[in-house]
Amino acid sequence: MSKPAKAASAATHFGEGALPKIAWGKGSCVYDTTGKRYLDGSGGPAVFCLGHGNEEVNDAIKAQLDRVAHGYRYAFTSDPLEELTEIVAGNSGGGLNRMVFVSGGSEAVESCLKLALQYHSARGETTRRRFISRQRSWHGNTLGALAISGFRDRRLPFEGALTEASFLSTVNEYRPPKGVKPEDVATYCADELEREILRQGPEHIAAFVFEPVVGAAGGALPAPASYAKRIREVCDRYGVLMIADEVMCGAGRCGTWRALEHDGVEPDIMSVAKGLAGGYMPLGVAVYHERVAGPLLERYGAPLTGHTFTGHTAACAAGVAVQKIVARDRLVARVAREGAKLKQVLQDRLGSRDYVGNIRGRGFFLGIELVADKATKEPFDPALQLNIKVRDRTFANGLICYPTGGNVDGIRGDQIILAPPYNATESELAEIVDLLERSLTEVMTPLGR
Ligand code: PMP
Repeated sequence: MSKPAKAASAATHFGEGALPKIAWGKGSCVYDTTGKRYLDGSGGPAVFCLGHGNEEVNDAIKAQLDRVAHGYRYAFTSDPLEELTEIVAGNSGGGLNRMVFVSGGSEAVESCLKLALQYHSARGETTRRRFISRQRSWHGNTLGALAISGFRDRRLPFEGALTEASFLSTVNEYRPPKGVKPEDVATYCADELEREILRQGPEHIAAFVFEPVVGAAGGALPAPASYAKRIREVCDRYGVLMIADEVMCGAGRCGTWRALEHDGVEPDIMSVAKGLAGGYMPLGVAVYHERVAGPLLERYGAPLTGHTFTGHTAACAAGVAVQKIVARDRLVARVAREGAKLKQVLQDRLGSRDYVGNIRGRGFFLGIELVADKATKEPFDPALQLNIKVRDRTFANGLICYPTGGNVDGIRGDQIILAPPYNATESELAEIVDLLERSLTEVMTPLGR
């Protein structure tokens, strides 16, 4: 009989590989255990809105931990939970004042989907079970959030176990749907939503879900100016709820606290996460409008969602501390102002390169799209793995940015997202551009560009 294989050394963590070990961080920089410095030009994936090692935030978390780490939601409320609820309601404005606090983006999106379904159930519209979203979108890794994510390669291994969803065209003025002029993208895409609702029957559609500025799947891609208003009208016409996924683009990242504020549109339900506690604690929130809360609470008394760590006290204390600093230091206005300048600098420094097709985004959420042919907008061959090359080169040069792309939902394209901390200094912002410019040259020169 053979001996069982020795399992002693088999312990691994997710994604273990030849990665550097993070040691500490301060301001816009993090350092690994060898002492190497990395300038955080993308807040990881647009998370660290106050950078790293912020003492005020750390002190607030420590003080909360010294009092109590968490009060379980069925037994207690807490000062941080109540204070953060007020802050998020105040920042969201209008009737967006009900919330479920969770531990991250996917949980927030998941809660949004459940709130939508529960709302329709409360109103007796129990056939409204399906969601409509868009190609080239990313809403998270839990089964519900994955089901509505326009990222086919990530969905495929789970097909058959996912909630029913349909996917509309990516809303992209730079790459409009076939045969559509850039100036007609908003109308075309709103009409497409209406056609899809009518094709399936409005009585089957619970909600339309979209990222106001597309992140991981689109490279900081905003919609044309009139898009959100048109979508709002279509949703209202058919009793379909509008869910804005602001996990990445919200909490001030785009120069308004809610990204959709820029468009003058209020969603029915909204997810916010990354910048909410700025990476100091895992935290997300599903915010729902009082018009959704009305029937839902009347029929059920409470949202039928939530987890052990819902409203986690120390995580909410981190959220309160981060949001107070963002408000006190007027960082959202700074992001709008400095973001416009940063976009212009990127345009001036990189815009004329023959492989830079498009520079876009809002606030400190900017995207640079790389193309093989500037005139035809032909993307690079995904086999080149350009996004990986850019990621590795920038990282080697001590810059953290967020290259995305390859082949998402059968649509090709490579983008680099920049999402610096809201309080990054002017010299740090300049260094981000320097390091990116140098890294791009080092990646593209061997490719003959
Ligand atoms: N929605 C959007 C728009 C996101 O960008 C992400 C994460 N990149 C998620 C949801 C999922 O968030 P998390 O990774 O925190 O679960």
